[in-house]
Amino acid sequence: MTRCLNCGAERDADICDFCGLNSSAAEFSLRRKLLNRTAVFLVGALAFVAASVRFPALELDGILIFIGVLFFPTLGLAVWVERRALRHTEVEAMKRIYYGLVPVPWLLALLLFANGAFDRGPPTLQETRVVGKFAMPGPVPSRRLVVISWRDGRRLERVPVDRVDFDSFSRGDVIEVKVQDGLVGIPWVAGVSHPD
Ligand SMILES: [Zn+2]
Repeated sequence: MTRCLNCGAERDADICDFCGLNSSAAEFSLRRKLLNRTAVFLVGALAFVAASVRFPALELDGILIFIGVLFFPTLGLAVWVERRALRHTEVEAMKRIYYGLVPVPWLLALLLFANGAFDRGPPTLQETRVVGKFAMPGPVPSRRLVVISWRDGRRLERVPVDRVDFDSFSRGDVIEVKVQDGLVGIPWVAGVSHPD
C-alpha cells in the first residue's frame, strides 16, 4: 500500500485521487511542509530559551536536559522523514509523530513564561552561601552560582544568574536568593543580592 506524501490518502496510481498531485509534486509539497514546521520548531526552541532566561526556573538544568533529550531526536526524526520522502517510501506515521512534537517547545516556553509573568505571589528570601561558580560560554551562555540548598533532601542548588550577578559573587560569599513559587508550581529565581 502506498500513501500520498502530500495528503496521506491511499493511492494506486501516480496521480493521487484525493489531492490530484503526482508523486513528485507530493514529495515537493511534503518537503516544503517539513521545512516550515521545522522552522516553527526551531523558533519555539528559541522562545523557550528566551522564557528560561527571563524567568529562570530553579531546576533549569534539569529542564534543559529534558529539552535537549527532546530536541535532537525530534530534528533527527525530521531528517529521517525527509530522506524517506525522497525515496517515496511510507512516511505517514513518523510524519504525524513529528508534527505532534513540533509545538512542544512552544508549549514549554508558554508554560515557563506564564509561570513567571503571572506569578503574583510574594517572593521568599533565602539566605545561603556560595560554594561554587559555573559558567558555560556559547550562543546561550549559562551562568550558575552553586549555593547550599535551603530545601529538604537537597545538598546544593545551581542558581541561574546574569553576568553582573555572576561576577559580583565569589565563593564563600553570603547570598540572598529571591525565589518565587511560580504560577504553575515551578519555582523560579527572581534575583540574587548581597545581604545588607
Ligand atoms: Zn494526495
